[in-house]
Amino acid sequence: ALILALETSCDETSAAVIRDGKHILSNVVASQIDVHEAFGGVVPEIASRKHVETITLIMEQAIKESGYSLRDMSAIAVTQGPGLVGALLVGIIAAKSLALALDIPLIGTHHIAGHIYANELVHEMVYPSMALVVSGGHTELVRMESEGQFTVVGRTRDDAVGEAYDKVARALKLPYPGGPHIDRLAAEAAEAIPLPRAWLESDSYDFSFSGLKSAVLAVINQARMKGEHLDEAALARGFQESVIEVLVEKAIRAVKASNARSLLLCGGVAANRGLRSALSDRCQAEGVPLLVPPSSLCTDNAAMIGAAAYLKLKRGEWTELDMKADPGFSLEEWSLS
Ligand code: ATP
Ligand code: MG
Ligand code: FE
Repeated sequence: ALILALETSCDETSAAVIRDGKHILSNVVASQIDVHEAFGGVVPEIASRKHVETITLIMEQAIKESGYSLRDMSAIAVTQGPGLVGALLVGIIAAKSLALALDIPLIGTHHIAGHIYANELVHEMVYPSMALVVSGGHTELVRMESEGQFTVVGRTRDDAVGEAYDKVARALKLPYPGGPHIDRLAAEAAEAIPLPRAWLESDSYDFSFSGLKSAVLAVINQARMKGEHLDEAALARGFQESVIEVLVEKAIRAVKASNARSLLLCGGVAANRGLRSALSDRCQAEGVPLLVPPSSLCTDNAAMIGAAAYLKLKRGEWTELDMKADPGFSLEEWSLS
């Protein structure tokens, strides 16, 4: 089965053609980073307008690169949520029109299920499994009892990891999105400025990053007020070490408590080199198989949406054509029936 998948939940316009949920025939991603950079973050109005301008072209390019034509598609997949409502609508309207015109199934897909199932494009997944989702809007530990059965066992109580990275980067006057810049600075640092870790209750799989973010901002403000030199690399490293230690510890604990057979790392922050290597070392020491997609499949793309959509397509679980964008879409609700 060939799925044409569309992703427009935030600031990437993407279209992909996927065969049998596993094979990427094309995956075209147009990032709007340069338009939003001047504002230091994503401007929803501008994001929607840019999606409208580029989606047709991106779709045509994805079809062309796949070597097939629109009429060969078996289904259309699209991100239904979570995301920015105006941005989601652009992909959804395009997907509905195509499904109607071609008379093929529409599969409304959960964006985080997409991040998780990006792993299916490069690995063989085994169950039960635990996923550590770290992205711009989400930080969650998700247990999968079997394929497509999601239970969120922990989540952030305030900022998402990616959001914390971007806010810290902004305070250091680094370009948007800041995650990759902090990652680079941290790798260059000779030492780390010590910062707090938010463990919360001892049995909790929840996360909190706003306290850490405030601690970083306090260090920056204090140096500026006193006119002292600030070792930005050491600060970036201290921040990154605090984030990574908590993420790794809680993820490993969740894997053990639920007898998961593997740990999946996914979402935009999974591109972080420090996190990838710390988690991989720890998993090796604990004998836990770790699956991580290549960085290009960690940040937003439509191929991952096609991979998740295939779970539903192969079971005949189609989405009604009158479905609506769902900015707060629940992952558990999207589980297979
Ligand atoms: P969500 O998936 O929760 O809706 P999103 O789609 O905006 O959010 P993604 O595209 O999955 O988020 O990830 C973007 C985030 O990943 C940004 O916050 C960015 O700073 C962060 N990021 C990207 N590369 C790195 C890196 N190397 N280190 C740390 N963070 C990174
Ligand atoms: Mg993005
Ligand atoms: Fe995302």
